[in-house]
Amino acid sequence: MADLSLITPIEYLKGVGPQKADVLKKELQVFTIGDLIQTYPFRYIDRTKFHKVRDLNSDMVGAQVLGRLMSLQEIGEKRGRRLVGQIKDDTGMMELVWFQSISWLKKGLKVGAAYIIYGKPSEFNGSISITHPEMELYQQQGKKVGNMTMQPVYSSTEKLKKFNLDSKGIQKLQQTALEITLRSIQETLPQYILEKFQFLSLQQALLSIHFPQNESLMKAAINRLKFEELFFIQLRLLKNKQLNTQRYKGHLFNQVGDKFNRFFNERLPFPLTNAQKRVVREIRLDCNTGAQMNRLVQGDVGSGKTVVALMSMLLALDNGYQACMMAPTEILATQHFNGLKELLGDDICNVKLLTGSTPAKARRVIHQELEDGTLDILIGTHALIEDKVKFKNIGFVVIDEQHRFGVEQRAKLWRKNSIPPHMLVMTATPIPRTLAMTMYGDLDISIIDELPAGRKPIKTVQFFENQRLRVFGFMREEIAKGRQVYIVYPLIKESEKMDLLYLEAGLEGLMREFPLPNFKISIVHGKMPVKDKDFEMQRFIKGETQIMVATTVIEVGVNVPNASVMVIENSERFGLSQLHQLRGRVGRGAEQSFCILMSSNKLSKEGRTRLETMVRTNDGFEIAEVDLQLRGPGDLSGTQQSGVLEMKIADLAKDQAILSEARQLVIQIFKEDPNLREERNQLLAQYLNKSAPTISWDKIS
Ligand code: ADP
Ligand code: MG
Repeated sequence: MADLSLITPIEYLKGVGPQKADVLKKELQVFTIGDLIQTYPFRYIDRTKFHKVRDLNSDMVGAQVLGRLMSLQEIGEKRGRRLVGQIKDDTGMMELVWFQSISWLKKGLKVGAAYIIYGKPSEFNGSISITHPEMELYQQQGKKVGNMTMQPVYSSTEKLKKFNLDSKGIQKLQQTALEITLRSIQETLPQYILEKFQFLSLQQALLSIHFPQNESLMKAAINRLKFEELFFIQLRLLKNKQLNTQRYKGHLFNQVGDKFNRFFNERLPFPLTNAQKRVVREIRLDCNTGAQMNRLVQGDVGSGKTVVALMSMLLALDNGYQACMMAPTEILATQHFNGLKELLGDDICNVKLLTGSTPAKARRVIHQELEDGTLDILIGTHALIEDKVKFKNIGFVVIDEQHRFGVEQRAKLWRKNSIPPHMLVMTATPIPRTLAMTMYGDLDISIIDELPAGRKPIKTVQFFENQRLRVFGFMREEIAKGRQVYIVYPLIKESEKMDLLYLEAGLEGLMREFPLPNFKISIVHGKMPVKDKDFEMQRFIKGETQIMVATTVIEVGVNVPNASVMVIENSERFGLSQLHQLRGRVGRGAEQSFCILMSSNKLSKEGRTRLETMVRTNDGFEIAEVDLQLRGPGDLSGTQQSGVLEMKIADLAKDQAILSEARQLVIQIFKEDPNLREERNQLLAQYLNKSAPTISWDKIS
């Protein structure tokens, strides 16, 4: 919408001026006339239908009635003073009540005239009334802008209302703005796309979103504008992806060799799941194109991402490269290292661990071996990205739990070789497809959507506070069987002190129930020094303690197969993805595992939905989907810093179908016309030229 009049500062619009312009900027981020036009209504009042008085009830959020004003009377005194009107249609009578602007209304309203009345019905002693209704003389209908029948409602604020910019006031501005600019607004979508989807033109869409003549035009307008928004985001993302494939050459892994094969044939202790096989294949193909790979692997906790990463790293070794894997914490890195050593044995390749606590001497050996190429795989924490760590020829980088790393940290690994290594980032926080396509739309995405066979699904139950004794009894039984138990307390953001109090109160009760010397308890919370935390974690990992009491600091990905019970206290205070992550700490061994959600009796509707979802399913993707519906895209874990999620009209929780369609179309366009040279795609080429790349490639992987 690059037209002079659209980029005109908002203060020059008739009816605005400097003061209103100021609040519009502050409250709605409206700086130009174009910004105003792109401030869309968030709902509409259906003015096409009239309700009969007889059919009104207090469940209605709003109703429009056509009736005659039979009488108007001022009653009561002082604070009880009010104006009461009687409205009659052919089905009955109802009351209208006003507490304010009484004398003004008394003068303005005409007894005996027919009115269109709109408001929220309420019921008292069986009779219906509407307080502070909107009133409009019936005869005046039809003179409004474009015969509007669906009335737009714009969000407003107290400050805006002070300047007469309530929904009606904004509507008036929209009218002026559209009258001035509408004709000069140029189409943004190519003609063939408009035809393919039978979209409204941009001009029609903008007019109909603000002043729809009927419901179907309103819907068509919304649909076109949502599509457009999602389409151009995808166009940008997929263009970036294309540019990067062209820009960065990648190492060529064109053979599967001895290391990969020996591991696969002699060591791999289990058959791969179909999903694992598929993802390994996707990675192999990707590393054999001559372009650099940037792939995100999404897989639920326990889906077996590590072995996929390992096989990819072996592929790198077979082609003469080194590989490394970075995890967010020392505990995780150590577990990966031990796990990989066990899987690999001693003779396939040389693997070492580098963390903050690696002694100086061992560190020097690692540095040396990395540079002379005798070290094949390096596992570690942030220590990997230090400048001192230099590889002879790094070809493959794995980042576990990628959302725990900052942009800059990831970019540093990228620069560890003159030709950047292939990057595989893994996440155990599934995000719904729509979000993935938008946040990571320029990465390739692999999904491991299958758990290894023979896993016993974790049983999840919800218990209320007053059933605590049963829970204790159950814990005792499990511990008697030799199992271990986690008890997690919520982190209360507002007050770390409160956290600790909760934890301590809980602990007191626990120690009474589970006295020494038969029961030993590990405690981990956010206020502890890292060293103490690790020490306590290690005691639990080694089985020296039976119960681990923790605030949510217990690490993502920590693996204690012998732990079979996860008790989550005040579980209604946790977000869904957090609950799912916590539950993933159990169910890692051969035994049946349990997740117990303790909650108070008073649950909000949303809280209840969360707990019910947890009880119903173990599927991380399904849970992520519910989470998206409950909280919206910006609040999901891992999405907070993503600017691409800020949209004017599209809603990633609801508009999955439109998004898929838009993305498919962009993919097809690039396939048929990769450089957008064709005449019919000129509008798209112009768009990409105008809007410089917003996301730079080496920032996201
Ligand atoms: P995550 O995806 O959460 O990182 P891991 O890679 O840690 O999962 O795997 C969880 C456990 O499942 C490990 O003990 C691993 O050895 C095991 N595992 C992985 N793949 C399979 C498989 N195909 N069959 C059986 N067990 C598997
Ligand atoms: Mg893992």
